[in-house]
Amino acid sequence: MSTPTKDAIIEQLRTVDDPELHQDIVTLNMVRNVTTDGGNVVVEVELTTPACPMKGTIRRDVEAAVGRVPGVTNVSVEFSARVRGQAKTVVQMPGVKNVIAVGAGKGGVGKSTVAALLAVGLKREGARVGLLDADVYGPSIPTLMGVEGSRLGVRDDKIIPIEAVGVKLISIGFFIDPEQAVVWRGPMVHGAVQQFLGDVDWGELDYLVVDLPPGTGDVPLTLSQSIPMTGSVIVCTPQDLALSDARRAIMMYEKLNVPCLGIVENMSYYVCPNCRHRDAIFDHGGAKRAAGELNVPFLGEIPLNADLRVFADEGTPQKCFNTADDELRAAVTHVVRAVAGQVSVRASMGQAQPTLSVE
Ligand code: ADP
Repeated sequence: MSTPTKDAIIEQLRTVDDPELHQDIVTLNMVRNVTTDGGNVVVEVELTTPACPMKGTIRRDVEAAVGRVPGVTNVSVEFSARVRGQAKTVVQMPGVKNVIAVGAGKGGVGKSTVAALLAVGLKREGARVGLLDADVYGPSIPTLMGVEGSRLGVRDDKIIPIEAVGVKLISIGFFIDPEQAVVWRGPMVHGAVQQFLGDVDWGELDYLVVDLPPGTGDVPLTLSQSIPMTGSVIVCTPQDLALSDARRAIMMYEKLNVPCLGIVENMSYYVCPNCRHRDAIFDHGGAKRAAGELNVPFLGEIPLNADLRVFADEGTPQKCFNTADDELRAAVTHVVRAVAGQVSVRASMGQAQPTLSVE
């Protein structure tokens, strides 16, 4: 009978998903070692907490997967645990104090809109802000910020971001064709993103807001391994708050050493512009309840608002902060300050540096 090779075993381990993240344990760097002695195989799996509730499932799935490799007669799984602290990253950003990842469980919930509002809002509060559009599959930040079709400059072999209302901005869409990216395998996205990140000259920034693709794919993984993320802001709408979406996104980021700064509920309620009646079209409040259950901060709610949609689509999100619509102005300002506040909380825990005092 043939002797199993390590490569064949690792290929099989790629079929074992972390039950909470729905990503395989090889990609998640949880397989620390594989040793073989004839048909006997020992797989060492590193958990992110010794209290992992999924240990039994992972053991069973690893045994079943490795057992399918020809020549394997016995599989044992050894667990270790390392509660991960601040991640080591490939790209150093000495001038960037805080990186805020904006994510969502699924597309269309207003994640990019919230990322743009955060960047513009933090700038208005007096911070130095960058905005990185990392949504390789559907980059929309250039449109949202009104700089579609702009050309990037290069100085000393570094890419100089475009500036829009005082925010330094780069979209991965300027470098990668989204139609190609859709068919790329993980390692290709990984290489492109890392190379691109290392080539940008952000200068001095208090906050770099990163608009991530929805879901739990390769790009968040690559980014978290490439740049030092302070925390994630998860955007959801009330109706998608089948808690599981937000939970999955939060769990994924935490596993990647990116703590959750909190949840924002977008399209939360509607205020009639004529009679000012407030209507919870999608049963608002789901995100707040979810935040409570998941034990993460609730960062506020943004109404479904026709002006906001127009400002977003015409590339002027800054108008939300000085619109005559008190409700909208107050809502977006609250979210911006809540996020800045949570970044400061992280800072006081030694994970980032505070830059902006907020109420
Ligand atoms: P995502 O990044 O999650 O795919 P977008 O930010 O691109 O979503 O938003 C999707 C659409 O919804 C855009 O046309 C945007 O203008 C609109 N939109 C987002 N948030 C709101 C809101 N609070 N009120 C009205 N329209 C919104």
